[in-house]
Amino acid sequence: SKGAALVAAVAQRLTSQRRKVDEALSLFTLNQQQLQLVKSRMREGLEAGLKSKGSSVKMLPSFVYHTPDGTEYGKFLALDLGGTNFRAMLVRFKRQKSRLYHKIYTIPLEIMQGTGEELFDHLAQCVCDFLDYMGLKKARLPAGFTFSFPCEQSGVDTGTLVSWTKGFKATDCEGQDVVSMLREAIKRRNEFDLDIVALLNDTVGTMMSCAYEDPQCEIGMIAGTGSNLCYMEQLKNIEKIKEDSGITRTDTEMCINTEWGGLGDDRCLDEIITPYDAEVDIHSVNPGKQRFEKLTSGMYLGEIVRQVLLDLTRRGLLFKGNVTETLKTPGIFETKYLSQIESDRLALLQVRSILQHLGLRGTCDDSIVVKEVCGAVSRRAAQLCGAGMAAVVDKIREDRRLERLSITVGVDGALYKLHPHFSQVLKETVKVMAPQCDVTFLPSEEGSGKGAALIAAVVRQKQEM
Ligand code: BGC
Ligand code: MG
Repeated sequence: SKGAALVAAVAQRLTSQRRKVDEALSLFTLNQQQLQLVKSRMREGLEAGLKSKGSSVKMLPSFVYHTPDGTEYGKFLALDLGGTNFRAMLVRFKRQKSRLYHKIYTIPLEIMQGTGEELFDHLAQCVCDFLDYMGLKKARLPAGFTFSFPCEQSGVDTGTLVSWTKGFKATDCEGQDVVSMLREAIKRRNEFDLDIVALLNDTVGTMMSCAYEDPQCEIGMIAGTGSNLCYMEQLKNIEKIKEDSGITRTDTEMCINTEWGGLGDDRCLDEIITPYDAEVDIHSVNPGKQRFEKLTSGMYLGEIVRQVLLDLTRRGLLFKGNVTETLKTPGIFETKYLSQIESDRLALLQVRSILQHLGLRGTCDDSIVVKEVCGAVSRRAAQLCGAGMAAVVDKIREDRRLERLSITVGVDGALYKLHPHFSQVLKETVKVMAPQCDVTFLPSEEGSGKGAALIAAVVRQKQEM
């Protein structure tokens, strides 16, 4: 009959649509072989970066030689410029305990993308406000400065910005010493004094603060707006700084900020990069750069999802083929929406209402597809981080000639802490890909800031010796 034929035709159309959706999703699934490839590419990147400058995995020396030993004491200021905000903190260490006061300041977009002088003047103003608030304007405290971007350091208290990452593009900063820029801004303001004794990456701060709790912590990882990892490396392996003078004879290790987000900038990941990733990269502020970060961090996952949805909609597989202005708007899918959409506690109707809130009207079937796209993209991100992490822990294990390695990773970032599945997939992947390593993940509390204060404490203790 005619009716039955119609039903069959509709059913067939649905199956073929579903098949096309599945094909798009399958671009994001990585098999064991592909993950092994990523692991070995990461290993090669780590080794190359230790040998020479200008490598895509930058392997930046931090001039931090030890994790804390619990004898740190005193009052310190910690300043933390992250991906989206600036935090000022006062940290007090006393008998293996720490106390902390802090204030968060947002960085307006026009300042992130204005001139360097404006950016650092803004930071100085925030510090000034904090000191006022704490009643510490006259104190001239030692300060640690956490700066969550790649810096080429020649000592613990200086570093030139290699290149901005994430959304930052303030002018006249790249190639400049960011500690001097902050000092000068403070001088221009002429209202307070500060003794900036350490500059550090947020991964290093995270590792330090977690090591204060757990001496097995020798790795720091951020899975947030950006993606990065640091770890304690043997000094003799850091070929590019062999002739450095600041190292004392008792030092055997140094923390290396890998800047693993740069993996693939030499195109070594091209075989796993999808057309959607390529699209996100082309429209970013730094095309061709931070390719691994663009597959793994919060700043980009939502954009990848949007590119997939855009494509599926254009092909009539979603939202009734209706390509809206909203869907064409970069940045609509912030990480927090991905986390919400993927939450298992959320009913489909609620997913639908989140989408509606974002300006995307669709059916419940559309909501299922959107949720699957989010899942595929974030799962791949977690697996890639897991493969990268496996490369690091296996390297440490081999360097120490151990059959088994037991190690802790201090970790921070919204993707790790707030996403409903990311941390689980990450852990499972590390387990499978580095079976000889027992890796414990320790979420940091106020990590990068407290770590800055700890490094300031270590540096000052050394100076007093
Ligand atoms: C930066 C790293 C930083 C990471 C996490 C990346 O974009 O290059 O220096 O550690 O984000 O904040
Ligand atoms: Mg941070």
